[in-house]
Formats: sequence, C-alpha cells, structure tokens
Amino acid sequence: MTEKTRYYFDHNATTIVRPEVVEAMLPWLGEYYGNPSSVHSFGREAKNGLDKAREKTAELINAEPDEIFFTGCGTESDNIALAGCITAADKSRNGLVTSTVEHSAIIKTADDLEEKGYPIARIGVDSACRIDMDALKNSIGGTTRLVSIMHANNETGVVQDIAQAAAIAHDAGAYFHTDAVQSAGKKVIDVKELGIDMLSMSGHKINAPKGVGVLYIKKGVTVNPLMFGGSHESGMRPGTENIPSIVAFATALEIASGEIDEKSRKLSALVKRLEEGMETAVENIQFNGREAERIPGTSNISIPGVDGEALLFSLDMAGIAASTGSACSTGEVEPSHVLVAMGISPKVAQSSLRFSMGYGSTEEGVDRILEVLPPTVKRLRAVSGGL
Ligand code: PLP
Repeated sequence: MTEKTRYYFDHNATTIVRPEVVEAMLPWLGEYYGNPSSVHSFGREAKNGLDKAREKTAELINAEPDEIFFTGCGTESDNIALAGCITAADKSRNGLVTSTVEHSAIIKTADDLEEKGYPIARIGVDSACRIDMDALKNSIGGTTRLVSIMHANNETGVVQDIAQAAAIAHDAGAYFHTDAVQSAGKKVIDVKELGIDMLSMSGHKINAPKGVGVLYIKKGVTVNPLMFGGSHESGMRPGTENIPSIVAFATALEIASGEIDEKSRKLSALVKRLEEGMETAVENIQFNGREAERIPGTSNISIPGVDGEALLFSLDMAGIAASTGSACSTGEVEPSHVLVAMGISPKVAQSSLRFSMGYGSTEEGVDRILEVLPPTVKRLRAVSGGL
C-alpha cells in the first residue's frame, strides 16, 4: 500500500523543526550537557551556549541581552508580561487595556486579573480585524499601567499597527506589551523603533522545538516573577534553562529573520493562488481579514452553509491539514471569538477554516486544496440544505 501524500496547512498551530535547527541543537543534547549554573567547565560550556543564544536573540530584535528572558512557551511569556507587570504596580496605576482578539494566553490571564480586582478594559476590532485605535485612546486612563495588543492575529494573520498602539500607550504613561508569537520571523521586529516595552515569542511557531519561549522586558520595566526558585533568568523565570531548545530558538529566529523578504514573496504568492482559486470555484465564500495587512501565509475563509468541523474532517481524509478557530468547551463547539469580534455571525464563524503556510509549503499543496475543497463544499452544502 502506498502512503497517502499529506499536506500541512497548519503552520500557525505549530511547525516542523528545520534540519539546520536540529543540527544546531544536537551538541547541546549530547556533548555539552552541563548545567549553566555550575561553576565547573561543563557548566561554563553550557553557560556559554546560553549567553550566545541570548545575545543572538537580543540582536535580532534590537534589544540588549539582559532584556531577554527564556521561558517555557509563548503562553508563559504572555502570563509573566501581564500578571507580572500588573501585580508589580501600586494601587493607583494597576489597570490593563487589551483587545478582544488576543490569544487565550492573554485573554485568560486578563480574566484572572479581573477576578482578582484589577481594572481591565478590552477594545474591539473592525470587520477586517484591525484594532480600533480611537477606542484604544479612549480606554486608556491615568490608572492604566499596561497595554497589550498582539502583533499578528493567529486566526486571521492580520497585523496590527503596534507602533501606533505603543505610541498611544506611552502618551498616556502606560507600558506596551505585544504578543509577537505569530509575527516573529515573519515581520521585522525592532523593539526600539516600534516602541515595545515587552514582547513574547515562541519557539515552535518559528521552526524550533516546542517548550521554549522568550519574553523581552525593556530595562526599567518592573515585572514580578510568577514562579520562585533559583536565580535562573535573573530570577524572572527560575528553573534550569533548556539549553538545547534555547540554542534552537536563537538559530531558528536567525534563519527566519534572514528569510523574511523571500518568505513573504513566496507565501503571499501561495495565498493569492489559493484565494483566487477558491473564489473562482466556490460560490459565496468570504476571506476574513483580506483587506488588512496580513502576515504572509495565513488565509481565513468562511463558507456559509458548511460546517467548519465537517469540512476540516473531510479535508483531513484527503490528506490536507487545516484548522478551525473554534474552541471546544464543555462538549460544545464555540465559534471563534476572533471572527465574532469582527462582526461575523456565530453561525458563519462556525463555517470557517484557516489555512496557514510556512517552511515547506508548496504550490502542489495549494492545488490539492483547490482540487478537494470545491466538490467537498458542494457535497456538504447539499447535505445542510444550501448556502
Ligand atoms: N500567542 C499567540 C498569538 C499564539 O498563536 C499562541 C499559540 O498558538 C500563543 C500565544 C501560545 O504559544 P505557546 O503555544 O508557545 O504557548
């Protein structure tokens, strides 16, 4: 029996570890296994690897090495940025302003802070998933300590004008954090030029392994650690550092940063081919966030009259891996909070799908979607009774 060819269109969920990255991390799994906190030569070797990875990561976002903190994942970076910064504040200025389209790592942390009595404001987006900057201005008050707006949305790929959002935050005397988990390696990030005080990234979205994240904290911003232990990562994130994955992170970010232009050209052309092909072949299809700037490689579609989960399953059977933005809670499939925030009805939101591309994506894969999707939509619409 021959293996069915599979096509991966879920790069915003996670990515393969590139061979160059595997190669870079291997010595740190074998030969150089010391604990970077140890004073002997084994420890010093590991510390050297850690320092170099920190320097490289800092340089790639125009930060200083002592402003880089390695964490366990993007979620952890987001938690430390929000909860650590807000709980370090005095009572007169302990508010947070964030948006309704953030990843759950931000949304749930904000919810938890609110339950603990901290003032939280949430601003919305327009129909193309762009932050309402006037609402942002109006929501920030003298009590706002931190504004957190994501750089690129994981579901729609829409890129926010974070330089403008940071300027608005600073004008009101607040700090600015951005969740750059989806934009790192796809957009140039210069924390000084963009006015960013804190920034989160995650290894497994940039072709490094799962289980490593980065939090940039600008010097002078007071942030409380959320975990307690040794003095690793200056006490901000105690726990013996995951050197192989940290080395992998810095290597992957360096490779990705060097390929931004080329990748942007290639992935944008693939998205264009996909969207134009679907538009021609599928009646009444909508492209969510298409009018806004998007990170290259993300396409979010709604196909009214089709259940997104059923479509996802049919595509999977045909070897195509995509995703819906729906969340499964208490056995019910909830529509994507991002699409709902864009004004899309819950019903149409549940007929949505995300294709996300990256390293290794090909025209052949796009053409496979274009071959499989239209007849599948026709069949599912016939079952559901139309558009
Ligand atoms: N923030 C965004 C925008 C994401 O897309 C994700 C993951 O999907 C995260 C945070 C969480 O990152 P991690 O999976 O490394 O915890």
